[in-house]
Amino acid sequence: AKSRGRGSAIVYDPAMEELKQERGRLELDLRSALANGEFELHYQPLHELASDRIAGFEALLRWRHPERGLIPPDVFIPIAEHTGLIVALGEWVLREALAEAATWPSDMTVAVNVSPAQMADFTLLKQVIAALSASGFDPHRLELEITETMLMQECDDHLQQLERLHALGVRIALDDFGTGYSSLNYLRSFPFDKIKIDRCFISELNAGSESSAIIEAVLDLASKLNMQTIAEGVESEEQLASLRALGCEQVQGYLISKAIPAEDLPISRQFARQK
Ligand code: C2E
Ligand code: CA
Ligand code: CA
Ligand code: CA
Repeated sequence: AKSRGRGSAIVYDPAMEELKQERGRLELDLRSALANGEFELHYQPLHELASDRIAGFEALLRWRHPERGLIPPDVFIPIAEHTGLIVALGEWVLREALAEAATWPSDMTVAVNVSPAQMADFTLLKQVIAALSASGFDPHRLELEITETMLMQECDDHLQQLERLHALGVRIALDDFGTGYSSLNYLRSFPFDKIKIDRCFISELNAGSESSAIIEAVLDLASKLNMQTIAEGVESEEQLASLRALGCEQVQGYLISKAIPAEDLPISRQFARQK
């Protein structure tokens, strides 16, 4: 369509229309995907620098669409949130991740991402309690990854819910740290055990850069608040060396490994069972 310039009425845009239809089709497919067993979790290692060992894995959701192949979460999670399917999907993720992690060595943690929609009506608390009791998993080995946007709705429930989960022993991590705008207030109010420094700071990390100064300050803050630290999106040896020098505790990123299917994890199930 020919654009009629600024301030004009809405012009029929075939590309936009195509996108809307595409979204509609995915939305329909998504409704049956859970029942059809089309979701899977991939796991990305959380690497501990001091010991040079894998401290655990973050569970990352994938949709294996029968015709389109593997669809990344950035594409379907917004649709699942919009349709409300995310609540059932979130419950599936928790159960699946805990069942898998129960086969790992007993010193490894599993990190699970949580969506804002799961926070309503104490859903998350109920889902976590159900998944813990179904798997017999130790709550101290579960880390829930929460983003700042989830806490922005002024809601006492959210704080109460996280505090009750925390009291059960579940660890709470603040994901994508530094991308919001009032993080420091959240750090004071919520029971966080861990800060995940967002990838955008890591990608611009080189000695003497602003990012390096910010990371240094965050690490200092975290240590004073008794919180663990992890850097996301580590892709180069240089970034790894800087993070090590700055005293970051854990790293995660393509340099170590991308997220991999459960059956390919570098963990011997035999070993896990024998332990
Ligand atoms: P996130 O929680 O910030 O997860 C990190 C994302 O960065 C993952 O993308 C991961 O594959 C990617 N990543 C890891 N290392 C690197 C690296 O070195 N470089 C680059 N460029 N990227 C890296 P993924 O798996 O596509 O997930 C995207 C987002 O989808 C996640 O961001 C999270 O917000 C959401 N998500 C994934 N799984 C779930 C889930 O089970 N539930 C919910 N509610 N959200 C999920
Ligand atoms: Ca995450
Ligand atoms: Ca993140
Ligand atoms: Ca993110």
